[in-house]
Amino acid sequence: MDKLNFLTAGMPLSNGNKGYDNAFKILEDMTLDGMELEFVHGVRISETSKKTVNETNLIKTAHAPFYINLNSKEEEKVEASVQRIIETANVTNELGGYSITFHAGFYMGNSKEETYAKIREQIKKITDELEKTGNKIWIRPETTGKATQWGDLKEIIKLSKEFEYVLPCVDFSHLHARYNGSHNTYDEFAQMLELIGKELGDVAINNFHAHLAGIDYSSKGEKRHLNLEESDMNYKDLLRALKDFNVKGALVCESPNIESDCLLLKQCYATLLA
Ligand SMILES: [Zn+2]
Repeated sequence: MDKLNFLTAGMPLSNGNKGYDNAFKILEDMTLDGMELEFVHGVRISETSKKTVNETNLIKTAHAPFYINLNSKEEEKVEASVQRIIETANVTNELGGYSITFHAGFYMGNSKEETYAKIREQIKKITDELEKTGNKIWIRPETTGKATQWGDLKEIIKLSKEFEYVLPCVDFSHLHARYNGSHNTYDEFAQMLELIGKELGDVAINNFHAHLAGIDYSSKGEKRHLNLEESDMNYKDLLRALKDFNVKGALVCESPNIESDCLLLKQCYATLLA
């Protein structure tokens, strides 16, 4: 991508019950750059909506269903999870999307190594299947907000190295919550970006997909999303680090006020560039 783009997580609040058509118009009027399609409760989109989504020039990413656990002890749940990711990848690719993200799974009491091996095996199935059909969309496990969920930054970087079309979706708020308040200074943001660049190369820095929101957390990690100004999320220094590392791609705002914080981020970033 040629710059850092600011996307809303789903349709803007001010869209009310209206469809994608109106939602895209709002984003364009606000000078926002795109939308993450929220397939979190299932990959459902009507044919009419597909046409609208396909026609917009805004950037599209997608969030796969929440009901995914590639490390479930029940094989049919693992298989259903694999299928949900493939379906998200196929529909989003068909819609001209850039990247998809998902929460890969839980440790389920297994060691980090066992969990990694199991998730890796499932990601291989997914990428093999997508390769067969020529689908080259980015497949991105998201950094998670709780220690019980697989997916710290190092695990996802390791997995990304093994597959051509796998890269991290860096949820900075999740990492801040996962570690109970750290990962919130300029130096920490810079270290993460440096690690990604060093381990995965320019392709990762030039094709970024990230999530950001205000967040509430405890020693157990993520509790809930908040609006940025109601939280301690240090988004200003994060934006500064993203600018300094010349990160390009999609930054998706997941605050409850959706488009307001998305605009706040975009405007704050613009002042840094000016
Ligand atoms: Zn997510």
